[in-house]
Amino acid sequence: MRILISNDDGIFAEGITVLADALAQFGEVYIAAPDRNRSGASNSLTLETPIRVHRHSPTRIAVQGTPTDCVHFALNAWLDFTPDLVIAGINHGANLGDDVLYSGTVAAATEGHFLGAPAIAMSLVGATHFATAAAVACKVIERMREQPVPENRLLNINVPDRPYDELSGWEITRLGARHRAESMIRDEDPRGHEIYWLGPPGARQDAGPGTDFYAVDQGRVSITPLQVDLTAHQTLSAVDQWISGEK
Ligand code: MN
Repeated sequence: MRILISNDDGIFAEGITVLADALAQFGEVYIAAPDRNRSGASNSLTLETPIRVHRHSPTRIAVQGTPTDCVHFALNAWLDFTPDLVIAGINHGANLGDDVLYSGTVAAATEGHFLGAPAIAMSLVGATHFATAAAVACKVIERMREQPVPENRLLNINVPDRPYDELSGWEITRLGARHRAESMIRDEDPRGHEIYWLGPPGARQDAGPGTDFYAVDQGRVSITPLQVDLTAHQTLSAVDQWISGEK
């Protein structure tokens, strides 16, 4: 196999290093990752400045850009083949529910999916047991080699932060949801100018059985198949009726 790995925590993060080491058993591993932490970058692209790259080795490149830039660069300018898998992570922290809209980890996988490769986003619900998430990734890849993911879906995988032997199984889930984020935190810089920090994410709102939140709370690996089409298909006719007086 030829595997492209990216992430949003940056090329020096522990998660991507553990993942790359674990996946070497499957074949050739290529890494294109941001040169610094770009968590929360979502699907952003760098359009107004050039994208500089630093070749650490023939198979490992740090990109001065977003996670999406990294995968875009790798598939359009670096590798002369489409990888058998694009995998993003292992993220330091969960990507559950609404988080996937902001996640650079999911975005990197999404870009691979857009560009025609099977794709996985891997996140650890914490920052300790990266080996557990790496072992889960290996199991999923073994399964993919036997049989492709149904309907060519992108997979968002979250792994509880505990030793592999202490996982309580695996569950296929849907995305849950959070309440709106908490207030921003106002502060002042040393020159007396106001500055703001984003507040913590909102509390869980839709986190019952069947959701990704619930599965990881129960100690289970959560696998959510994702699609990119955000159309609210079931609402098309209601909006059509709503606007009909104006057309
Ligand atoms: Mn991250």
